[in-house]
Amino acid sequence: MRANLLLRAALAGALWASPALAQQNVDILIRGGTIVDGTGAPQRAGDVGIRGDRIVFMGDAAAGRVTAARTIDATGMIVAPGFIDPHTHTAGDLSKPQTKANLAYLMQGATTVVTNNDGGGPIDIGAQLATWKTNGIGTNAAVYIGEGSVRGAVMGMSDKAPTPAQMDSMKALVARGMDAGAIGMSTGLYYAPGSYAKTDEIIELAKVAAAKGGLYDSHIRDESSYTIGLIGAINEAIRIGREAHLPVHISHIKALGVDVWGQSDTVIALIKAARARGQNVGASQYPYTASGTSVGASLLPRWAEAGGRDSLRARAAEPATRARLVADMEENMRRRGGASTLLISATKDTSILGKRLDAIARQRGVSPVEAGLQIILAGDASVASFNMKDSDIENFMVQDFISTDSDGSEGHPRKYGTFPRILREYVYTKHVLTLPQAVHRSSALAAEQLGLVDRGTLATGKFADVIVFDPATVADRSTYEQPTLLAAGMQYVLVNGVVTIDGGAYRGALAGRVLHR
Ligand SMILES: [Zn+2]
Repeated sequence: MRANLLLRAALAGALWASPALAQQNVDILIRGGTIVDGTGAPQRAGDVGIRGDRIVFMGDAAAGRVTAARTIDATGMIVAPGFIDPHTHTAGDLSKPQTKANLAYLMQGATTVVTNNDGGGPIDIGAQLATWKTNGIGTNAAVYIGEGSVRGAVMGMSDKAPTPAQMDSMKALVARGMDAGAIGMSTGLYYAPGSYAKTDEIIELAKVAAAKGGLYDSHIRDESSYTIGLIGAINEAIRIGREAHLPVHISHIKALGVDVWGQSDTVIALIKAARARGQNVGASQYPYTASGTSVGASLLPRWAEAGGRDSLRARAAEPATRARLVADMEENMRRRGGASTLLISATKDTSILGKRLDAIARQRGVSPVEAGLQIILAGDASVASFNMKDSDIENFMVQDFISTDSDGSEGHPRKYGTFPRILREYVYTKHVLTLPQAVHRSSALAAEQLGLVDRGTLATGKFADVIVFDPATVADRSTYEQPTLLAAGMQYVLVNGVVTIDGGAYRGALAGRVLHR
């Protein structure tokens, strides 16, 4: 009798428990993987259930009685949030039929890219975003309104200060860009014509972005010792954020060139001090010792570019001005580490592709700076400029306010390799970062910096941007010689719940969306 009562009690208990264990149906179940959720928390075993474009289940699928239309076996794999890249040059790729899938990034596990950085991109943000919405894009994308483009549209290549009317026109363009969906304003204060704007002008424009909830993203005025110096430029960026009242994002943070090697400590201290005062200041970084730019941007003094290419040509033709130009270019080449550190990485001229500037100069029987000037006047070329020190890169990398960006550009392996390179090189080989740290800085931290809601972490209710990769094989394959080799190791990449990379291959989906703050 008593045994019977116990049995009945046990049965009742089981019945009571069953509503909590009601069968749950999901569209996709990623089963048996190791979850690294993006928050920085330690990795753990678990399953991820997705319905529509959201994560609806995390935990033990068997215990939770989860059934799925499709189950992805993630045994031995890492399951993580899709990576978020705060600084790319994908605006062109996303707009073209052949490249709108954004495969260079999908194969790295990047599911969101930001573009129109460095003060660039179109003035008409509305038209840009409409194209993507109409034609489809493979990753999510967010954009800035670029200050250099705005200044160029109103003032051309003039290095003068704006008149009040010009200032009003520029403010109106920034406002229009923000209203059309930009997440903030970007600057490229190193580049002409953005560089012709003084700090006060930038603050006035940044206030317009601030009033509309935007952030300030900057390729700072000087990453080296060109003008106000690295430290001066960091201080300028912090001041702009403080006076315009908006978050500051310093893009591709670095100590560029021999004069500023070792200054990462001071830069980090300045940003930490601003953060301690309550200011929202962050940064992002790519994991390469070479930057990618053009011969002109790396060697020309900005005064020589005022007025545009024809003005430059006229200056180069006038002997006294040319002498001054060549002297300034010599100095710029020295600060970057000399002619042997400049590798021509993309150009129509196949006779110089893949060669360093010192070799090109020898081949032509001229000085390296003369060879550089010839290349610039012939239409310029992309260059990989080896100018960073590993110790500075690693010093920046371990800071909890520095996320991962690619700054991906033609001719540089970073466009195809940045995110897997962080894993292969800095987690699995050099042990600079733990896996949860590396994933955090490549996902949740970037989402937080950019103000992207419900992205960057794996949790129920979040958007299902999810990646599944093999820790044994995940790696960058792109090199300076072959910069467009797709990365290895991403087995599944889901964008808004759509399996876009499936079994390691792209299957044609265009599930990306335009994101706003
Ligand atoms: Zn830049």
